Amino acid sequence: MNSFTIETLEAAPDEIYDIELEHSLLEANAKLSRDNRALLDRHGIVAIDFMGAIGSGKTTLITRLVEKLKTGVAVFNGDATTGADADAIAKQGVPVVQIATVNGCHLDANLVGKALRKIDLGGLKLIFIENIGNLICPAEFPLGSKARVVVVSVTEGPWMVRKHPHMFLGAAIVVINKTDLAEAMEVSVEELANDVHKLKPDIRVIPTSCKTGAGLDEVTAALLAV
Ligand code: MG
Ligand code: ZN
Repeated sequence: MNSFTIETLEAAPDEIYDIELEHSLLEANAKLSRDNRALLDRHGIVAIDFMGAIGSGKTTLITRLVEKLKTGVAVFNGDATTGADADAIAKQGVPVVQIATVNGCHLDANLVGKALRKIDLGGLKLIFIENIGNLICPAEFPLGSKARVVVVSVTEGPWMVRKHPHMFLGAAIVVINKTDLAEAMEVSVEELANDVHKLKPDIRVIPTSCKTGAGLDEVTAALLAV
């Protein structure tokens, strides 16, 4: 009797006891995200939010993109506790709002709406919003952005796309980051891209390395065309 069997179970919708609360919460968020979008549209600003796991390289990617764009861009940096990432981005000389969620695991439209009221929107063309490092619930909370970018890096292993389909389905652009480490990690960039396209063929997939600079011009152009 050395063999083990694996039992699985999946919660049925009526077993999730907080579903009603969640429903009204998501509705409230959706309304606030539409308000954010209307405010952005009135100012001719395109907001793009970046989602991805902890350590996928969101901050470094945004820093490099800001470096290329230089003007007309502001960054909202969501982080649970520290301001280290906001400080790193602010060194590029662009307006940065640090949104501390105090251990909250995602940004929501309310927090983004508050951040929008903290900066001068005049003269801005783009706002990059860095979400909390998390591949689950940020997908449920639209923020009012025009497009969502998911950053996945080869250091997260080969299954990240398959494990988190919901997150990727909401993305217009998927950045496969840290490609300079792909060989060492024995992770195929091409297979990650295929996994994305199996979910949704029209998602734009752009491999990048913030170390070598590969792909960054392509990401910049894609964001400007959103
Ligand atoms: Mg970060
Ligand atoms: Zn969350």
